[in-house]
Amino acid sequence: MTESRLRRAAFLCLLLLSAAAAAAPLPEESPVPGGVVILKLGSNRHPKPKVWFDKRPVMVIDHQGDWTALVGIPLQTTPGSRPVEVFQDGQKVTVEVEILPKEYPAQYIKLPKGKERYVSPPAEDLARIKRERKILGKILSTWSQTETVDTDFHLPVHGRVGSPFGLRRFFNGEPRNPHSGLDLVAPAGTPIKAPAAGKVIDTGDFFFTGNAVFLDHGQGLISGYFHMQRIDVKPGQKVQRGDILGTVGATGRVTGPHLHMNVYLNRTKVDPELFLRRHLKTAAK
Ligand SMILES: [Zn+2]
Repeated sequence: MTESRLRRAAFLCLLLLSAAAAAAPLPEESPVPGGVVILKLGSNRHPKPKVWFDKRPVMVIDHQGDWTALVGIPLQTTPGSRPVEVFQDGQKVTVEVEILPKEYPAQYIKLPKGKERYVSPPAEDLARIKRERKILGKILSTWSQTETVDTDFHLPVHGRVGSPFGLRRFFNGEPRNPHSGLDLVAPAGTPIKAPAAGKVIDTGDFFFTGNAVFLDHGQGLISGYFHMQRIDVKPGQKVQRGDILGTVGATGRVTGPHLHMNVYLNRTKVDPELFLRRHLKTAAK
């Protein structure tokens, strides 16, 4: 091939790649506490806007030629009008988004004997929890300014949905934080696969989550994998969709083996099903 032909071929490849990235499916929109609001902010012929919500930066990607913001809505948000700040062309515009009410069901969990410390942790565990909260806060504040973000999440394990996101939880009758993610039930030892391309932010053994892996997918989109039996990746490692992160286990606050998956946008836990629904339908068959 001549040099110009090579260059043309490379250019075509790039075009195809960027077309594929632009067509990656977005999560399902759900303007409720724990949901995702999708804001279309005009053609990509204009400069890329910067978007803020609750004093935190928000993901903005080029989706099919439009600047598109994906805003994570915290579970504790009171329904009603909420301001999203958009900075573009040296101007600031406040966009009001309407958050609708959503009542999440209650769930009552009985932790077996020997696991009571997960309901009312003793002093030494409380000290550990406090230490770990700092580490987890740092992990979740990760922001990488990537041009594209792989929002095309596939199932990390082919399990049935155990507990969905958002359940108001009671452990041995005591009210505790709501369920922060999605539980996929699979036997211990089942490989857990990266749902999309990303980079390992950190791994560790934390009090509540047990063995955990956190992936950075870019611009504040982070996924977390909890209660793992084995961790097969290292901090800083790049992963592609389908790469094995480790295996399903029963470490941390659990009653049996399953994968608990969290998804975060703008440092907010959102419902992972919004990213996975397409695959959950087929997996349930
Ligand atoms: Zn869970």
